[in-house]
Amino acid sequence: MAECTDFSCNVCGFKIESWSDGHPYLTDGSGKRHFFYHPGDEDECREFYQKEMGRLRVVEKDYLAFWRDRGGCEVSLICLHCGRQTQRDPERDTMRCTHCRRNELMDTQELEGRSCPKCKRGAFCGEFGGIS
Ligand SMILES: [Zn+2]
Ligand SMILES: [Zn+2]
Repeated sequence: MAECTDFSCNVCGFKIESWSDGHPYLTDGSGKRHFFYHPGDEDECREFYQKEMGRLRVVEKDYLAFWRDRGGCEVSLICLHCGRQTQRDPERDTMRCTHCRRNELMDTQELEGRSCPKCKRGAFCGEFGGIS
């Protein structure tokens, strides 16, 4: 279950919607990431593993190794310098903003009290936005 927090700047009203869960993915042989939006529904991930590895059945140990090797989770980030929003895997990807080239990307879950990149004067304040 994911929880949503609506962050808004107390000066200019700039809004960021932030979800508590990330975007789990598995990488195929060519390096492309495939996202699984219902990680609770594991069948899809297992099928992907079987197809990629050419296995007829799932060997639990290999399946876990496959996740360690090819899997990850992207989170929603925002650049505290220019306000650009992006999605990255903090364990594998660079934390440099592709727009302004600074290392100021931050998980949108941790925006509470941070200064606003739009107006540079206000700070973000979070509000419960719902559950999905
Ligand atoms: Zn602002
Ligand atoms: Zn930036």
